[in-house]
Amino acid sequence: MSAGDNVDPEEIEKFNELAHRWWDTDGDFKPLHDINPCRLSYIQEKADLGAGPVLDIGCGGGILVESIARLGHDTTGIDMAEKALGVAKLHAMEQEVAVNYEASTAENYALAHGAAFRTVTCLEMLEHVTDYAATIKACAALAQPGGDLFFSTINRNPLAYALLILGAEYVLNMLPRGTHEYSKFIKPSELAAAIRAAGLELQEIRGMSYNPVTRNAALNDNTSANYIVHARKPVQA
Ligand code: SAH
Repeated sequence: MSAGDNVDPEEIEKFNELAHRWWDTDGDFKPLHDINPCRLSYIQEKADLGAGPVLDIGCGGGILVESIARLGHDTTGIDMAEKALGVAKLHAMEQEVAVNYEASTAENYALAHGAAFRTVTCLEMLEHVTDYAATIKACAALAQPGGDLFFSTINRNPLAYALLILGAEYVLNMLPRGTHEYSKFIKPSELAAAIRAAGLELQEIRGMSYNPVTRNAALNDNTSANYIVHARKPVQA
């Protein structure tokens, strides 16, 4: 499979259509805004963000990567939704925050930037690609030896279906219908296997809870719906 194949055009179109909504903290991306402080502090706790460049893969409008840049770190965000990147660039400019945004898949970016990044993040993105294992391999190639990687996605089971698709898309109308496709959700065991197959060391898997009413997000031991994974690239392969 070539790098260009690991893109689902319908997914990219979906995120392009929503481009103007990225920075509406009460709009379609409200959950990502609400969970961002929680995931940012986890990343800060586990990785030394000042130790080298940070790459955010599938950055969308830049919610995570801009928050890292605001802390003064060297950041790059890549995504295939060009309209989302346009919004991301404009927002960073307005906020006077420096982020290097580029339109690319992880696979293509890895061809020119092998082992260039001390920290690689790929959050809420793997459930939107055709072949998540290939994306994880590219993330591994992009990381420096000894670098930290973070992945987050959604577990595949009836509870996750009820919460993320029925609840969020149909009952609460919190996410646009069609945001998620159940078959693309990833079990923690599957993600762990792909991480190891990419030559990475799995450090930790944490569940993430989100209450749309209180808008509170927290990490815990319950990985039955949303979860985040910390992995490390070995110093010597
Ligand atoms: N990571 C961001 C946005 C998550 S939404 C956050 O958590 O805040 C998923 C993003 O992945 C969208 O912006 C979408 O355009 C992007 N995406 C989906 N498939 C992709 C691919 N193959 N390569 C790069 N980006 C992709």
